[in-house]
Amino acid sequence: MSAQARIPRIDLHTHSQVSDGHGTHDEIVQRARERGVEVAAITDHYDPLDPRLGAADVVRDPARLQTVLSLRDSVHRLGSECGVRVLVGVERGPLPAPRLGAADLDLVIGSVHYLVRPIAARPGDLYNPEFWQAYKEDVLRVAADPQVHVLGHIAGYLPMDPLLLPGSTFEERRAIEREIAARFFDRSWYEEVFRRVRDTGKAVELHCATRTPPPDAVKLGLDLGARFSIGSDAHSLDRVGAVDWALDLLESLGATRDDVYIPQVRPHPDHVPA
Ligand SMILES: [Zn+2]
Ligand SMILES: [Zn+2]
Repeated sequence: MSAQARIPRIDLHTHSQVSDGHGTHDEIVQRARERGVEVAAITDHYDPLDPRLGAADVVRDPARLQTVLSLRDSVHRLGSECGVRVLVGVERGPLPAPRLGAADLDLVIGSVHYLVRPIAARPGDLYNPEFWQAYKEDVLRVAADPQVHVLGHIAGYLPMDPLLLPGSTFEERRAIEREIAARFFDRSWYEEVFRRVRDTGKAVELHCATRTPPPDAVKLGLDLGARFSIGSDAHSLDRVGAVDWALDLLESLGATRDDVYIPQVRPHPDHVPA
């Protein structure tokens, strides 16, 4: 593979202690540098519309956006001192986040953390066709949403909390997700997701925490000309830059740098919204 085509180590999905991660922005940037990450993004949760949480929950806190914006310049500066291109963004839910202008942030990940229109389902009813049909429609809507740059974890960290029985392990939940994907995430849905993402200049995330989407879906996306983002979804410093799964997968599928979403850091805005 030529140097031109080499896919850089990028990690465009990390959480700091501004939301539910452990590290500070400075620690994440330092860790990214130590891991050889060339482009990193700090994408704390910002979703004031999340119906699952109390108004005081850290994920919903409307002051979050102001905190993120106020850190942006210093994070950019620190990144350029360390030789890491660092983006400051947010991870929002399935609906456009209020007070979030298109130019305010370097990166917006849109993730379907809950269904926009809840489907009545009981715990244990994991393979409820109506539920997963609604999920797929929500993903398609985010795939066309102008506020979003990257579609987060479309086949992992699925919004299955209302369907789960208590006491499942991380690995059990991943196995359930694989089964849900095998039953409901058909080729025509993936095709439509990739087409929308391609036509709107977005990217689909290769989500390293859950190793999704599966390789055959990624291959389909590459064939259709969709681009992919790479994210660890690190909530702790030891996961920052843990993206080997995605790099290995892209290489095995013959992908090049052009297939990967590598955003620029925008010039500093003239004004930061009050
Ligand atoms: Zn998420
Ligand atoms: Zn996340």
